[in-house]
Amino acid sequence: MARSSSPLVNKGSPTEQRRLLRARRSSKRVTALSPEVVLDATLPTTEQQDDAGVGAAATAQKQDATLSDETLAVHAGEKMGKNGAMDTDSIATPIVSGTTHWFKSSHDLIAFKEGRLHSFEYGRYGNPTVKVLEDKISALERAESTLVTSSGMNAIVATLLALVPPGTGHVVTTTECYSEARAFIRDKLSKMGIKVTFVELNDMETLKAVLDEGDVTLFYTECPTNPHLKCIDIKLVAELCHRKGALVCIDSTLASPINQKPLTVGADIVVHSATKYIAGHHDVIAGCISGSDALISRIRAWHHDLGGAISPDAAYMIIRGLKTMALRVETQNHTALRMARLLENHPKIEWVYYPGLISNPWHHIAKSQMTGCGGVISFEVASELHGVMRFIDALEIPFIATSLGGCESLVQQPAVMSFCDVEKAKNGIKDNLVRFSFGIEKFEDLRDDILQALEKI
Ligand SMILES: *Cc1c(COP(=O)(O)O)cnc(C)c1O
Repeated sequence: MARSSSPLVNKGSPTEQRRLLRARRSSKRVTALSPEVVLDATLPTTEQQDDAGVGAAATAQKQDATLSDETLAVHAGEKMGKNGAMDTDSIATPIVSGTTHWFKSSHDLIAFKEGRLHSFEYGRYGNPTVKVLEDKISALERAESTLVTSSGMNAIVATLLALVPPGTGHVVTTTECYSEARAFIRDKLSKMGIKVTFVELNDMETLKAVLDEGDVTLFYTECPTNPHLKCIDIKLVAELCHRKGALVCIDSTLASPINQKPLTVGADIVVHSATKYIAGHHDVIAGCISGSDALISRIRAWHHDLGGAISPDAAYMIIRGLKTMALRVETQNHTALRMARLLENHPKIEWVYYPGLISNPWHHIAKSQMTGCGGVISFEVASELHGVMRFIDALEIPFIATSLGGCESLVQQPAVMSFCDVEKAKNGIKDNLVRFSFGIEKFEDLRDDILQALEKI
């Protein structure tokens, strides 16, 4: 059996190929999400559309998109767009557990090395099951290429190490940003001869001034941010950065690929902690990086050395999780929005942070680039540290745990959970702040639970 003619190089039927290609091409457009993602039958129609961020633009894109995210989440990388990774008629993608792949002959090995024959070589460089997952995420992010890694932090670190050269590199990041990523940039990158500048998330004047120095390699931030759910105008930032030759990398974890597609509004790289919405079940740690072939192959080369390969078993779990991502996120969007509205008017709540609320200062930005605002809300309870601990301890449904995006609701008090005193003060984390990550439990059950717990303060 000559490898070149084996089903291993099956690229899928021409129809499948064209379909996926069309879906990918639609990446040039703003978004291809279906408006249903954010519709909530229980809310007034006009308000719900406005509030959840479905702009006219998003609706107009619908006709252009060949396949919706709901369909891509199920089929991309598998039935649609077979990529040479898998030769199977099994509906479920098999877990290819081999750590190495054999060649039929030395001739085939040479053909592989010369790029004339598609194959896998060694597990750290790639795996058929992992490739299916990468192609599925690429379809959802409208990316040319995706690299799946062993964790979200691995994705972030690999991206920064690969794209920012020591000695001449300059990273600009924001004061509110995933705390471990911020600490890595501040404490580690800066020691590698990389210039590091922090700007306030929406201080465009300072960002422009820093970019004017002319040496910025990469702008990195998170959108929406954790725990205050602030949003940055990705399109605007990308325009400013690209004018000065800087790359833009967005950690889009809190949005999920369902609610936001940074590449379609100008970002060069999007990273996720796939541990969160993408895997969706609080049972796998993983990360992913999506962007152009050129950028992702630069990161892939570093990844080969860093060795942050994900196991094929974990990749399988994520492929399975992704099938229901659109359904899960839709439910989480609705629950979070309804709860945010309810809490906003509750006498025991001082402030609710959620970009889906019209009162939120980032609402207009969220509306322009998101089709739903995700399942995480933060709020300040009208009480002090211990009163809020009593509220949290009185909750019956959510787990007291860090992380977000899975089927189970999680709750945490960042003052207790995540931040040492110094960090807390710096990032405006108040003692009475609560972060809720809604799961897919019934809204009414979660609502009743929160309302009863508020009475226990
Ligand atoms: C969890 C998280 C990360 C880190 O991801 P891991 O998978 O835990 O390594 C990075 N960014 C954001 C926004 C996160 O929520």
